[in-house]
Amino acid sequence: MRWFALGLLAGFAGCGAPEEKAPEGEKTQEHAPEKKHEKHESGHWAYDGATGPQFWGELDKKFETCGTGTHQTPIDLPEKVAPTGATPGTLAFDYQPIPVAILNNGHTVQVENTVPGGVVIEGARYYLVQMHMHSPSEHTIGGKNSAMELHLVHRNAAGELAVVGVMLNEGKENVPLKPIWDYLPLDVSDKSEVVPEGAVDIRALIPDNPSYYHYVGSLTTPPCSEGVRWFVLTQPSTVSKVQVERYQSLLGDHTNRPIQPLNDRKVSIFAPK
Ligand SMILES: [Zn+2]
Repeated sequence: MRWFALGLLAGFAGCGAPEEKAPEGEKTQEHAPEKKHEKHESGHWAYDGATGPQFWGELDKKFETCGTGTHQTPIDLPEKVAPTGATPGTLAFDYQPIPVAILNNGHTVQVENTVPGGVVIEGARYYLVQMHMHSPSEHTIGGKNSAMELHLVHRNAAGELAVVGVMLNEGKENVPLKPIWDYLPLDVSDKSEVVPEGAVDIRALIPDNPSYYHYVGSLTTPPCSEGVRWFVLTQPSTVSKVQVERYQSLLGDHTNRPIQPLNDRKVSIFAPK
């Protein structure tokens, strides 16, 4: 599957989903300081400088929600929330190993899913479209960042998005995600070949009967579209220091959007009994 959503509406860009890719031919150099004084190019955004997060809403008419939205992601998740609506099975995982085909789009490295599978939310099936990471994490828990955060981006038949976030704390090497590091594409817009023996099995990252936070937010990259259902596992996985350093040396040392106001939203926590 090539740029899965290039032809689709802009509203479907993942927090790291396909449309966050820079326009064809444009090299994204968001970490290059000289960019700070260059004129804004439409559609160009970065994590720093004059095209950084605080300006996303002004960069392009399509990105307006980044500035005006009131239900934005990421947020600080409370360390302790009384479990609400504890209905195990509300979110059911149904993943398969994913052959590795990775793209470095300048903002993240993205593994595009080419096999069936995904999650079932309240009986409705959402298919896994792609996964990618941020470093440090975008969500915080009790004000604390994790070293990285994995985002599993799903879409249902109606085009609605649901993202599962897995916090990755620094610790042991992450073995299930290791194929991503083994085949990291070094250059922007380089895509690694599909490596069938290098499948990523995200089932190994999801604990049995996981607990998770749930709230409704947005994409964390332009166009910051809202109405995205977020599920962030309370149980972190790990990444090694070497994995974090390798990732950051390729993408930059902060590919996370700053925390956004909660406003009138509620964060629920689902915990199996
Ligand atoms: Zn993301």
